[in-house]
Amino acid sequence: MKLNAMTIGVIGAGQMGSGIAQVMAWPAMQQVLLFDANAAALQCAMAGIQTSLSKLASKGQLTEAEANAALARLKPVQTLEALAHAEVIIEAVPEIEALKCKIFSELDALADPETILASNTSSISITRLAAATNRPEQVVGMHFMNPVPLMKLVELIPGLQTAPQTSQRVSALAEAAGKTVVAARDMPGFIANRVLMPLLNEAFYALYEGIGSAEAIDTVMKLGMNHPMGPLQLADFIGLDTVLEILNVLHTGLGDPKYRPCPLLAQYVAAGWLGKKSGRGVYMY
Ligand code: NAD
Repeated sequence: MKLNAMTIGVIGAGQMGSGIAQVMAWPAMQQVLLFDANAAALQCAMAGIQTSLSKLASKGQLTEAEANAALARLKPVQTLEALAHAEVIIEAVPEIEALKCKIFSELDALADPETILASNTSSISITRLAAATNRPEQVVGMHFMNPVPLMKLVELIPGLQTAPQTSQRVSALAEAAGKTVVAARDMPGFIANRVLMPLLNEAFYALYEGIGSAEAIDTVMKLGMNHPMGPLQLADFIGLDTVLEILNVLHTGLGDPKYRPCPLLAQYVAAGWLGKKSGRGVYMY
């Protein structure tokens, strides 16, 4: 479906925000403003997007000219205020509720009244993020998968007060970005992480209890269950800090001890072993 030209704001230019900015520029063909509180992260994201688009062009998925045009639609910005006139703003900062609520409240104060505020949160209540604003009907969960340019799914999570038009507009935007949209209820972890996180956590417990080495656990799940990636490798890829935060949301939100984060996972995060993004997690990168 062809969308009217819009400006999309993206907040947080990490693994997810940079991918979201890229698919909004191509194939969704929108103007994109990308903001990160860390100037180096922003610079790194712009370089990463350029590399990713060139790779896609070399595989024939778009022409060099289309890749250059997509880059020209992307603009890094230095302040949150620069996003004020975007039609849709997608937040992708770390999985910390207080941080996301603060940003939603700031966005509510500065963005145009019609602007839709979407969150790429993996697990946090959309209803609570919406309650940090005076526009809860225009707040929605738009959960992309990692790596965004390659993964086809977007989970769409309306909060308790989200208006149907908000969900429809965000769905159309996700579809224009080449994604298939699946709706989920606003409960901790939604569908994706309610099902995935217990598996990753259990893999950590198996490692913690010495049931197998990391390689053994991952090989069993790859060759035995036909998973494309082992659970420990996947956890490294997601970011161990993010995995821990999501498990904390499930554990507190659902109150069931089955979601208790593995102490080994918490210890790795405390040591700064965050996975692929920090150069070391369960594995070395
Ligand atoms: P990340 O650590 O790679 O990136 C987060 C970025 O946010 C960093 O560049 C950081 O500088 C920036 N940031 C921090 N505070 C900020 C602020 N106040 N204003 C602007 N920018 C700020 O994290 P990520 O993996 O991209 O995850 C981001 C969000 O996406 C989280 O909510 C996470 O749960 C969700 N998510 C992650 C994955 C995944 O596999 N990693 C998948 C789906 C959803």
